[in-house]
Amino acid sequence: MVQRIDPVQASKTAQPSRAPAPDSKVTKEVFDQTNATRSGRSKPRRNKNLFAFAGFVSCSCGRRLVGQIAKPRYAYYACSARCGVSAIREADLSAKFAEHLKAIQITQATADFILAGIKEFESKHRVEHNVRLRRLQARQLEIQATVDKAYDDKLAGRITDDYWGLRSNEWQTELATVSASIRQLENATFDSFATGRTVLELSQRAADLYVKQTWTEQARLIGLTTHTLCGTA
Ligand SMILES: [Zn+2]
Repeated sequence: MVQRIDPVQASKTAQPSRAPAPDSKVTKEVFDQTNATRSGRSKPRRNKNLFAFAGFVSCSCGRRLVGQIAKPRYAYYACSARCGVSAIREADLSAKFAEHLKAIQITQATADFILAGIKEFESKHRVEHNVRLRRLQARQLEIQATVDKAYDDKLAGRITDDYWGLRSNEWQTELATVSASIRQLENATFDSFATGRTVLELSQRAADLYVKQTWTEQARLIGLTTHTLCGTA
């Protein structure tokens, strides 16, 4: 069973806000930050315990670089094995990351080459799509004509009721399949080229976009990339 906290009971037992005692483990900064959030006047501030590169960077010795705070708003990363490689400031790592994004940026020529490939694929796909659609539409008309003729034959007594019943079931089944395929093809969209162009444009602007983001957004972007940067002395 999950233990649930009664909100009424919790608020009764909650301690009133007061400044931390001098020997308290809670620093004044943490206290002020917490209170700012409580009173609703919180500014978009960096979370003290959040390191943008945590888990993504390793030292040149192969061990993890761990985030530490030297003074407010000054984060740095040091080797977890304390191998002697100097610590690196988060701001410097961030600049390296932006360079890294620039380095993996594709050229306009490469982007054009990829887009031309997508365009060719999409136009081939569109032709095949139209051929298939016309074929199915023709088949739909054919089945409909067969059904109409058989119905006339049944009324005129040229075919038996049993024959009509058997065949008409088959035709209706095929008609339903064909109609469903037609609907599917009619609703198909051709957006590979547009999507590809958007993705390529974004990747080409990745470094510029990264530099312009807030710390939180930058941290998110770092988390999205799987690349590991190596710490250098
Ligand atoms: Zn190291």
